Amino acid sequence: MPRTPSRRTALRGLAAAGAAVVGFDPFTRSWAVTESDQPLSDIPQLDGTLHTDPASLSADADDFGHIVHHRPAVVLRPGSVRDVVAMIRFCNRHGLRTAPRGQGHGTNGQAQVDGGLIIETATLAAIHPVKAHSTSVRVQAGAKWSDVTKATLAHGLTPPVFTDYLELSVGGTLSVGGIGGQTHQHGAQVDNVLELEVVTGAGELLRCSPTRHRDLFDAVLAGLGQCAVVVGATLRLVTAPTTVRHYLLPYDDLHTFLDDQRLLATEQRFAYLEGQVTADAAGAFNQYVIEAVAYGPPAGDTPDDTALLQGLRHDASGAQIADLPYYDFLDRLAPTVAALKEAGLWAYAHPWLNLLVPGRSAADVSATILDALTPDDLGPGVVLLYPVLRERFHAPLLRMPDDPMPYLLAILRTTPPEDAATVQRLLSANRSAYDTARAVGGTNYPVGSIPFERADWREHFGPVWTRFAEARKTYDPQGILVPGQGIF
Ligand SMILES: Cc1cc2nc3c(=O)[nH]c(=O)nc-3n(C[C@H](O)[C@H](O)[C@H](O)COP(=O)(O)OP(=O)(O)OC[C@H]3O[C@@H](n4cnc5c(N)ncnc54)[C@H](O)[C@@H]3O)c2cc1C
Repeated sequence: MPRTPSRRTALRGLAAAGAAVVGFDPFTRSWAVTESDQPLSDIPQLDGTLHTDPASLSADADDFGHIVHHRPAVVLRPGSVRDVVAMIRFCNRHGLRTAPRGQGHGTNGQAQVDGGLIIETATLAAIHPVKAHSTSVRVQAGAKWSDVTKATLAHGLTPPVFTDYLELSVGGTLSVGGIGGQTHQHGAQVDNVLELEVVTGAGELLRCSPTRHRDLFDAVLAGLGQCAVVVGATLRLVTAPTTVRHYLLPYDDLHTFLDDQRLLATEQRFAYLEGQVTADAAGAFNQYVIEAVAYGPPAGDTPDDTALLQGLRHDASGAQIADLPYYDFLDRLAPTVAALKEAGLWAYAHPWLNLLVPGRSAADVSATILDALTPDDLGPGVVLLYPVLRERFHAPLLRMPDDPMPYLLAILRTTPPEDAATVQRLLSANRSAYDTARAVGGTNYPVGSIPFERADWREHFGPVWTRFAEARKTYDPQGILVPGQGIF
């Protein structure tokens, strides 16, 4: 996009939107808003637009959690990477805090900035052309995984690991980790990144990879936005199956369920392995289902039920087996999400709990936490419980328990947002559950809403804390990036 010719032009977007013009007052360190269309300070020329209208500010003072609400002063919809560089430099000059926002699907204000600048990355969503037999694709960080996947599938290729929901931004999941049913084979999404293009907190545009600025690469992947804004990523691709066979295998005993999951993860029988816990008619969370998927050709062989299910101790009479197109499997939550939106439940509060529990304690910790759970406190949410393999994780900042086969335990609570007392009680319950897991070496998978203080973060990062803090000093010396995480 061509550069706009003047600062005045850069502000035209605001005036056109009927908004007041915004400028930064270095004396009060706050944004000044006037009805004049004269530029008030050194706002850079932009290819994109700045917004101060109430609808834009309110939207970015909210997220999927609907619990935390910090109102920014201004929103950038960048028209180019250059805009991100320019505005981060501007923020540095004025000591202004800023955060990138992908799809805003954090649950605890992670992408919010009180009185600062939100960089909405959705306008930086290009997907570079994919070539047949390519082993990677370059995308901009605002691209959604659904769009990346549709583009690569047109060439029979796919990223290897997916989150359960595809409408998340690449930058958003790479800043946390990105864990899903393929993780037991391929690690997290951050373990499948070949190179990143980032704008550091100091406003420098850099490429980093395992062989270039390695310290920065390690500080950005699962780095919760603390050192740089990801603007582009080169993602690994593998051959995609055309169809998959999807298995739901029910259990009514926690130990049998966990043992069978352990067997499947160890043998890597399935391409995808997850599990869910549901309540029985009396409200006790004691029903389990393994969700496993075998990939068909050309990524795998035609699935053989006998071989795949051999030795498993599920209730065979309740097993459900279905063949479906690969993309339909990846996008399997879409109909549920549409129904939740239709029913108004997508707008409910989501005080989510996401833990990584050492495999050796998975049964005890799950039993303790599930015993304390009631159907009312889960609401129309789900409980996930599935194993991953420690040896497949390589990003230092994605903190895993010291155990060869940790389990992800996620209690994805959904509750009316107006009932603040219940929301607060569930947040406290999240903290108690975290303390139970931490006592045996469990960690917070930080996409949810566990009340966390700075000291908790220091403990969370443990042996990599010093390196992380040094990277923060080097790449975001003024500490302006992503205050919503509450780390530094
Ligand atoms: C319905 C649903 C299902 C989910 N399923 C899974 C799952 O299966 N597995 C899993 O691992 N996670 C899952 N998540 C969690 C999800 O991966 C994280 O919340 C993720 O950060 C959301 O991406 P986003 O684009 O909405 O990011 P945002 O919420 O916009 O941002 C999250 C954090 O990342 C930072 N950030 C955003 N973009 C960038 C960038 N370009 N550069 C640097 N930092 C950035 C933000 O400042 C913020 O701190 C799920 C979430 C939802 C709502």
